[in-house]
Amino acid sequence: MAAGRAIRGSRVGSGPVGEQMRGELAPRATVSYWCGDGHETVRTFSAEGAANAPETWDCTTCGLPGGLDRDNPPSAPVTEIYKSHLAYVKERRDDDAGAALLDEALGKLRKRRGEA
Ligand SMILES: [Zn+2]
Repeated sequence: MAAGRAIRGSRVGSGPVGEQMRGELAPRATVSYWCGDGHETVRTFSAEGAANAPETWDCTTCGLPGGLDRDNPPSAPVTEIYKSHLAYVKERRDDDAGAALLDEALGKLRKRRGEA
């Protein structure tokens, strides 16, 4: 996930990140993301991280994907809304379990047909 990238940049045990601390850390850069509803989501990256910042970031206000271009925000992912039951099932199972279930189901089917 894109969120992991930001977390990796913060150091555990470096104390609270206050305004005073910021000047002592590596150079920081903020990146603004704009969602379709016009909300601004500001992420702070290291200078290096900002150069490689993801092109989209989910809006922290409404959850829509935000983009770097305020005038041309990414459209909402309609596929999520129309996700089928099968898609949910696939998400819950890892590939191996899914393959095993498929094998089992096919085995029963073949047995029923007298092919096994
Ligand atoms: Zn938003």
